[in-house]
Amino acid sequence: MQEASALACGIGFLAVKRILNFIDGQFRPACSGQSLPNVNPATGQVIAEIAESGPEDVDAAVAAASRAFASWHRTPAEERSRLLIRVADLIEENFEELARLESEDTGKPIALARRVDVPRAVRNFRFFATAILHSETPCHMTDDRALNYTIRHPLGVAGLISPWNLPLYLLSWKIAPAIAAGNCCVAKPSELTPLTADRLAALTLEAGIPPGVVNVVHGPGGSAGRALTSHPNVPLISFTGGTKTGADVMACAGPLFKKVSLELGGKNPNIVFADADLDEAVATSIQSSFANQGEICLCGSRLFVEKPIYDQFLERFLEGTRKLRIGDPQDASTDVGALISEAHLRKVEGYVALAREEGGRILIGGKRPENLPEPVRDGYFLEPTVITGLDCRGRVMQEEIFGPVVTVTPFESPEEAIAQANGTRYGLSASLWTRDLQKAHRIAAALESGTVWVNTWLLRDLRVPFGGMKESGLGREGGFASLEFFTEAKNVCVKL
Ligand code: NAP
Repeated sequence: MQEASALACGIGFLAVKRILNFIDGQFRPACSGQSLPNVNPATGQVIAEIAESGPEDVDAAVAAASRAFASWHRTPAEERSRLLIRVADLIEENFEELARLESEDTGKPIALARRVDVPRAVRNFRFFATAILHSETPCHMTDDRALNYTIRHPLGVAGLISPWNLPLYLLSWKIAPAIAAGNCCVAKPSELTPLTADRLAALTLEAGIPPGVVNVVHGPGGSAGRALTSHPNVPLISFTGGTKTGADVMACAGPLFKKVSLELGGKNPNIVFADADLDEAVATSIQSSFANQGEICLCGSRLFVEKPIYDQFLERFLEGTRKLRIGDPQDASTDVGALISEAHLRKVEGYVALAREEGGRILIGGKRPENLPEPVRDGYFLEPTVITGLDCRGRVMQEEIFGPVVTVTPFESPEEAIAQANGTRYGLSASLWTRDLQKAHRIAAALESGTVWVNTWLLRDLRVPFGGMKESGLGREGGFASLEFFTEAKNVCVKL
């Protein structure tokens, strides 16, 4: 067995890594023998080749997971917990390498990978490792003396499909609860960001997780991902990605009656009232608009500002945005890195052009930055972009852009803010800024969002239910909601 899948192979004069599938505790090439290039979006250079997997590879991974399930689901919770904690420790021991890989693979600033992505992966494993030691199931007696109790069983093989924007963060958010609850899993990371999934696979082996409990199959969503969602021996799918893909996942999984959780796109409102703490609201809104180049599903891409402070807020928001340092993601002082791919950059630029057509004013940004340093001169960068003057019903304010682009719109009353905030087909998250707590509670209740942050953004406690309303998703994960999702309840009724 190879120590890790990253074998060096030559492409022209460059040595790149080969990312192999991880099946039954072994790193193997795709059955097709084919591979796909993996590009560093900040440089445009190929940095790895990944296994181009299809249904045969998924079959092998599902078979390995099914075999491993026979003993893994009987492994005592304390032992599963110990192994998951060991994975968390190993992520911490390899912290710098994982942060660097995540930054190279996604184009995100390494400072962000150090602050958010890698620490969160550690927390995900620790959280679910300990949660399984503290969960319990209900039991009650009926009037006619029947004792009812509930047993929760793992389902078997969990199919876990994750996107490119927070690769390790979201993959570990799925793997940890799935295997903590006693399932085995087949994970399909985004073909654009395979590097940390590959390292995580090796770390699970090093931690002592038995072969077959965690399997990772790389490759395109249309083949490897679809093979997983339509596989008859995968009873559960946890999917995070775009709303359109989510519909396809549902169409494949529905006829097989799989348990499905969908964490999908967003077009999140960020509402600033005139009585808000302006310093906090401006500073955090810059973060919620442009963190990770706006490629976080929870970014507040539609800013609504109450009329009396609109001009003042906008001036300070623009001033702070201009100070963001855009550049080499490997430089610890960089605030804004590269977008994930050239195709995605073009898509985002397309929305900037559309904003002009829809009558919007591009106050800053909207173009690729000039004078980038040598290593990142050809990367897929876009300046943080602020647009005003758009109609809320237009496409730019209705569709998810998923880039460093924010629209700013004034409002006159709480009712108008609520109507504008709720006026899209999405409902993932919302932020609101006010010192009036009564108003905050009233508006939080009226917003059609899975999460509402008051006077903050992206403050995540792993115990809370997480997910979206409307076309932002189906089901909730997080805390005991995840453990419920990854298990099935059985009622036992005993007549006494
Ligand atoms: P995506 O294109 O939907 O892809 C997500 C994952 O699904 C990838 O692994 C992809 O593989 C795979 N996939 C693609 N087509 C598939 C199919 N037909 N069947 C099964 N799997 C398939 O999304 P993305 O562009 O990677 O990520 C951005 C989107 O994710 C945004 O909409 C964002 O809002 C959303 N997101 C939501 C959350 C949340 O918690 N709600 C969190 C993060 C991101 P390939 O990459 O190989 O195509």
